[in-house]
Amino acid sequence: MKTPKLLTYSLIATLSLMFAAQANAQDQVKKAIPFKEYLAKTEPSTLKDEQLSSIPIGTYGNGCIRNAYPAKFDHPYYQVIRPQNDRFYGSSSMLSFLDNLATKTHNAGLPILLIGDISLPLGGSFARSNHASHQIGLDVDIWFRMVHKRLSTEELKKPWALNIVKPNFLAVNNYYSKNIYTLVKLAATDPQVDRIFINPAIKEKLCLEATGDRSWLRKVRPWWGHNAHMHVRLLCPSDAKFCNNAPPIPGTGDGCGKEVTAWLDDIRYPKPKKPKKAKPKKTTPPKLCLELFAEQKANHKR
Ligand SMILES: [Zn+2]
Repeated sequence: MKTPKLLTYSLIATLSLMFAAQANAQDQVKKAIPFKEYLAKTEPSTLKDEQLSSIPIGTYGNGCIRNAYPAKFDHPYYQVIRPQNDRFYGSSSMLSFLDNLATKTHNAGLPILLIGDISLPLGGSFARSNHASHQIGLDVDIWFRMVHKRLSTEELKKPWALNIVKPNFLAVNNYYSKNIYTLVKLAATDPQVDRIFINPAIKEKLCLEATGDRSWLRKVRPWWGHNAHMHVRLLCPSDAKFCNNAPPIPGTGDGCGKEVTAWLDDIRYPKPKKPKKAKPKKTTPPKLCLELFAEQKANHKR
């Protein structure tokens, strides 16, 4: 998930320009597919049964993934943005989730979806980024901007984002639409989805608009930032024995009313800033991940 920063988009734009000088996206894709090597490799004895399926290891915020698959570059109903960052690898469950969601949104009359960060080819943390999770191929950023005409390779490298929240962060702006409601609802009703992080102002709007069964709203969690994309987190697949689910969503009910109001009240009535805590110690990846990263290094040297 992203920490909120008003300046994030200008920073992203600058970084995108830097990346634009790199080789074209397809070259990047070819270079970045070590997963084929892993499929061909003999697995350590403990992993033998799972040779072909993706193996998410660890937690969303500290882990890796063996046998990640790239999101589809030729999917008719979604496109992968900023492919030059190599962050389009996910578990097999992520790939099927994206396929199902994009098909459902298409059938509901929505334009083409834009898919942002998933994970690196082996997962792990994104260097020099404010993303704390996205480490095991089970997190994905899906943009609120949708497109009627497929973006070109150049446009995909440097896409502009659609912010749907007012500058005071207390309400959605005029870019919020019924399509966004449909997108979030279709994602939240997928049984593979654990939770979705979204700006509190958007959650409040969804709460106001929802009719009928409101149980899906429970999975839609307010979090700062997330005003141009939602962060969708999938559950650990049932056969993923090295994957640790996040703690259950606290409380009961749909999280509307009091809970979402409390988030917005933090903006309305800011509390005095607490002194900064000491920086948390650097986390060490799980042992199986260290092995995986070491394998990749060894393969590269060969
Ligand atoms: Zn995210």
